[in-house]
Amino acid sequence: MARYTGPVCRMCRRDGVKLFLKGPKCFTEKCPVEKRNFPPGQHGQSKKVKKVVGYGLQLREKQKAKRIYFTLETQFRAYYEKASTRHGVTGDLLLQQLETRLDNVTYRLGFAISRRQARQVVRHGHVLVNGKKVNIPSYQCKVGDVISVREKSKEMAILGSSREFLAGQNKVTWIEFAADGLSGKIVSLPKREDIQLPVNEQQIVELYSK
Ligand code: SF4
Repeated sequence: MARYTGPVCRMCRRDGVKLFLKGPKCFTEKCPVEKRNFPPGQHGQSKKVKKVVGYGLQLREKQKAKRIYFTLETQFRAYYEKASTRHGVTGDLLLQQLETRLDNVTYRLGFAISRRQARQVVRHGHVLVNGKKVNIPSYQCKVGDVISVREKSKEMAILGSSREFLAGQNKVTWIEFAADGLSGKIVSLPKREDIQLPVNEQQIVELYSK
């Protein structure tokens, strides 16, 4: 299935929750979920809000996680498969893999104002892992990896605005930030409580483990 490229706020409105896909706007009263919390479309306002349960809820939780991290089904399922074979809580391990993707770490470091933008920043070769250019958004960062901005990219305009915006938004304990804010070292793997996102990963695990 192709990646959704339409207006991202529609995705949040459809789910009725903030998925934080747009950067600064998500934290203001301009966020459409704050202003119009009903499904998008001509009849959205008149639609009765049905309580989603069972299989529908499981699908919705998976959809939310995929949207937040911009992953497609095949890759998302591969994260689940890997998590289910490892020792530990499968849901936590699933989220941990998503959270340690290089595009997400780039966002957490404040090199972009949204995960979507972070994906582009990585794709365009602005990010280094342990001093080497890595332009694969799904690259899995490990403990000890140092993620930084390429020398030539330090003057990027979005870098300035995103770092300013993210100061205070992204309290990340598993990354040690350099004093200049242009690099960070992964000091531990993120735990569930470090990932404050509106996703019920247990529902996703139940969906896949059928
Ligand atoms: Fe749009 Fe962000 Fe609000 Fe979602 S949380 S509706 S992406 S502004």
